Amino acid sequence: AGGAAAPPPRQCVLDPRSELRVEVPPDAPLRVRLVAGTAEIFGTELPPEGWVPIPPRSKIAIFTWHGATLELDGVTESEYPSEETPMVIYVNTHAILDARRARARAAAAQGGDLEASQGPRVIVVGPTDSGKSTLCKMLLSWAAKLGWKPTYVDLDIGQGSITIPGCISATPIEKPIDIVDGIPLEMPLVYFYGHPTPSINADVYKVLMKELAKTLERQFSGNAESRAAGMVINTMGWVEGLGYELLLNAIETFKANVVLVLGQEKLWKMLKDAVQSKPNIDVVKLQKSEGVVLRNSKYRQKTRSFRIKEYFYGIANDLAPHSNIVNFSDVSVYRIGGGHQAPRSALPIGAEPVADPTRLVAVNISTDMIHTVLAISYAKEPDEIISSNVAGFIHVTDVDIQRYAWEPALACGMWVFIICVCLEPTFFIPGRS
Ligand code: ADP
Repeated sequence: AGGAAAPPPRQCVLDPRSELRVEVPPDAPLRVRLVAGTAEIFGTELPPEGWVPIPPRSKIAIFTWHGATLELDGVTESEYPSEETPMVIYVNTHAILDARRARARAAAAQGGDLEASQGPRVIVVGPTDSGKSTLCKMLLSWAAKLGWKPTYVDLDIGQGSITIPGCISATPIEKPIDIVDGIPLEMPLVYFYGHPTPSINADVYKVLMKELAKTLERQFSGNAESRAAGMVINTMGWVEGLGYELLLNAIETFKANVVLVLGQEKLWKMLKDAVQSKPNIDVVKLQKSEGVVLRNSKYRQKTRSFRIKEYFYGIANDLAPHSNIVNFSDVSVYRIGGGHQAPRSALPIGAEPVADPTRLVAVNISTDMIHTVLAISYAKEPDEIISSNVAGFIHVTDVDIQRYAWEPALACGMWVFIICVCLEPTFFIPGRS
């Protein structure tokens, strides 16, 4: 890459409780091998032998509890060891959660009530780049390693790690998260918001959280095992004003009982005061890792584009989405919260027109839709859209007004009745390189 010759494979010896922090460039491959000892990447152990490819653009830490020798082969943007990590604090947190899971399981076995048999519902909060997603991954992988199947809930519509940006979603984690493939995607429950910014329509964001929580609650009530394992909830890095209000809303909606606050004293204090009347919620302040890499807004935007591309083409560029031509008459496209207000003439005298933020608006298919990503809803009727999760996404590559047909790239072949929702036509897919 870039003309510079790749450095030869090199070994690195890590002391106990230290980590090697590595940034992988966007275009050059890196692989890592464990030579001796044990090591893990964000809670998932490196296999005892064999090379592990580290995906491009990754920023990772390879941590060892008892010491390790590693071998690296390929280019990095930076690589340095550090002995200052909050890992002991994080694993102690995990141990407390583990004990609560065991207690919940024991209560369920003794026919305890729903409250007693509910494992920890952990919500991780903090400003952007405080290491929230990373801590979630560790807590999930450590729990899965012990045989629990906790549910990962990702409320971060900007930098979510389950599916494309603009969604909130949940999925059970049954084994430590794969270093290369990330969060498993067999059965995610996905609700489409359609924009990476919650303030565009915070009411819809709240409604979708409520729907997701309702569905999870239903699943938990029929499954003691996942109920005891509980949830780990990742949130957005927006912690001021409306962002803070949405955090409180999330805590309430998902009935979180453990709030982990990363890297901000003020936020911890505010949340602690806000929930002090509720004795069952622990608000815990945790140290942020110095290894967390700061990402500017341009970088974030790029990551979003890559996430969409990954959805259609796979992490290793190994998926091939097929194109389909669909007649206008075979699809209905809706937008939630179109912003159209009722005309004043239609209102009682004196009433002010207000836009209903959750109103469903039918969208006329037009060339404006080219390069948008639409979600395919499971809804059978339009009025079910807001409460329905989605089956997958399509990328509109062309709209042929002349022939009354349009050609979306279909990413999953499971649609039967198609209702598409788009909140904002904001997502563009970079071309396949
Ligand atoms: P947040 O969710 O709070 O925005 P992330 O957990 O996504 O933050 O962390 C930001 C970036 O830093 C990610 O790319 C993550 O992989 C990386 N990162 C986190 N912890 C470390 C670490 N100890 N060493 C190196 N990189 C890290």
